[in-house]
Amino acid sequence: MGKIIVLIGAPGAGKGTQARLLMERRGLPQISTGDMFREMKTLDTPLAREVQAIMAAGTLVPDEVTYRIVKERTSRADCNDGYILDGYPRTAVQAEQLERLAKEQGNEIRAIQVDVPRDELVKRLTGRRSCPVCGEIYNIYSKPPKTEGVCDEHPDVNLVHRADDNEESVATRLATYDEQTKPLIDYYEKSGRLKKVNGTGEVEEIYTEIEKRI
Ligand code: AMP
Repeated sequence: MGKIIVLIGAPGAGKGTQARLLMERRGLPQISTGDMFREMKTLDTPLAREVQAIMAAGTLVPDEVTYRIVKERTSRADCNDGYILDGYPRTAVQAEQLERLAKEQGNEIRAIQVDVPRDELVKRLTGRRSCPVCGEIYNIYSKPPKTEGVCDEHPDVNLVHRADDNEESVATRLATYDEQTKPLIDYYEKSGRLKKVNGTGEVEEIYTEIEKRI
């Protein structure tokens, strides 16, 4: 039976950073719905335009649309032995859809909550920059690149600041998290499938804590 590792945490909690490390070191594919939606930017379809508008505002893409891309992506061969979900599920309906999908796939779900205080989240989000080539995540306050504005590994391309990492979208994203996603912590806890990790401190320390729990 494969494991589905669900990383739960507010925007900016470091889910993406930790999911990338788990992928590199444990060979589990990182499935990030946010990344998949961002990739749709290059498409010029009504759905892609709708998704872009939703993301810019900081609200959520409809559950059915999200489920379809998760189901499609996780049915590929690299997910046969399990995978990491980064940013999914985010609503009660999505959590139910995932239960069914896991059953169909013969996988079991384990959730890890990455906990970070609110004031720290805002700083992380507004300072976040990433490399458009390799996806490495930097922060102008806490993890600056060696040379300002460019990736350590890809010095020819400029780091990007996500369109939804501005103060207004961040406020909406955090409120959306509180209303729709936070209740899932209880949901996984009640079913005995939740482990908690303190998400402040060094990336490596947090990684070690996560590894111990999976
Ligand atoms: P993230 O990169 O995980 O912060 O996601 C960026 C944006 O993509 C979110 O603010 C949502 O608009 C959208 N998104 C990502 N994951 C989901 C999801 N599971 N359900 C609905 N919308 C999502």
